Amino acid sequence: NRMIVLAARPESMPTEQHFAMKDAAVEQPAEGQVVVRSLYLSVDPYMRGRMNDSKSYIPPFALGEAIVGGVVGEIVESKSEQFAVGDKVLGMLGWKLYNVVDAASVRKVDDQMAPLSAYLGVLGLTGLTAYFGLLDIGQPKAGETVVVSGAAGAVGMIVGQIAKLKGARVVGIAGTDEKTSYLKQELGFDETINYKTVGDLGKALEAACPNGVDVYFDNVGGDISDQVMLLLNTHARIPLCGAISSYNSKSGDIGPRIQTQLIKTRSLIKGFVLGDYADRTEEGIQALGQWLGEGKLKYEETIVEGFDKVPQAFLQLFEGKNMGKMLVKIL
Ligand code: NDP
Repeated sequence: NRMIVLAARPESMPTEQHFAMKDAAVEQPAEGQVVVRSLYLSVDPYMRGRMNDSKSYIPPFALGEAIVGGVVGEIVESKSEQFAVGDKVLGMLGWKLYNVVDAASVRKVDDQMAPLSAYLGVLGLTGLTAYFGLLDIGQPKAGETVVVSGAAGAVGMIVGQIAKLKGARVVGIAGTDEKTSYLKQELGFDETINYKTVGDLGKALEAACPNGVDVYFDNVGGDISDQVMLLLNTHARIPLCGAISSYNSKSGDIGPRIQTQLIKTRSLIKGFVLGDYADRTEEGIQALGQWLGEGKLKYEETIVEGFDKVPQAFLQLFEGKNMGKMLVKIL
């Protein structure tokens, strides 16, 4: 069995040196356990936080142990009545070619209903994060302006499309022209801004949001968020989803530094994690699945091939190499 373990804790931007390959025999499954062969592994920005030895809403990865993340796989051996060989399952499993786990730690997914990779993206962590964060906290109304940062990423592109479905005017911020044109031309975003080439982001935002900002779905934090928040309207809502711009900074989180603006506008700013909505998972999957089926929602994936490319794919999230959900297909 091959696995990828945490070799060292990074202090700033991680490199491949912080990961190591390890080989071991595949354990024998005990009664009630299954052996899952990995088909797709999810790499996600939040995993960067788990590489630090610090307190958070989930414990840090242990040094020398396999990294754990979203995995879709196939049952290759079953000692549980719940699963048969050939069943496709989803779970939070190790970055391993094979995981031997209790049957209760995976759930079946239907590859007839959607491609298997979708369960790690639009019908999984990132789609559900977009759905609950935007609708529960952002609550966009028809005619309002919704700004989303990290707009061409897995969460961001679903946020923008759901906001459009609710009748809002949507402005997306992303880091390449390929991404911004995709958002406008393929997904119907009203305006987009390439934050890396725009120069004066504040001016560009003012032009893109002539009626101010009612909802800001924040995936990145830092300077971008400061600029968006200067344009908030009264009673604006800000779902704080992620702050990727600070994940690799030694000094930690930055901002929001626009407190007076938040006070003046009586804006709601609320951090959340998907786990807060665990009891509503089915509702989210149902809604996203329906929009997908009706062709009202599109998604994109960047699929890197090969188990040995997992660390590289993870690191590329911080360079913006992905469009939509970044995944690794195990060959
Ligand atoms: P993405 O698919 O959006 O990938 C990350 C993207 O972030 C990159 O493609 C890049 O795009 C952008 N990025 C990287 N570095 C920076 C930077 N310094 N400044 C601005 N943008 C940057 O990842 P996800 O959709 O999976 O996650 C998006 C955010 O949501 C993350 O912050 C993540 O931690 C958070 N999240 C939170 C969850 C929760 O429960 N609260 C659950 C899932 C995700 P670009 O080319 O545009 O720079």
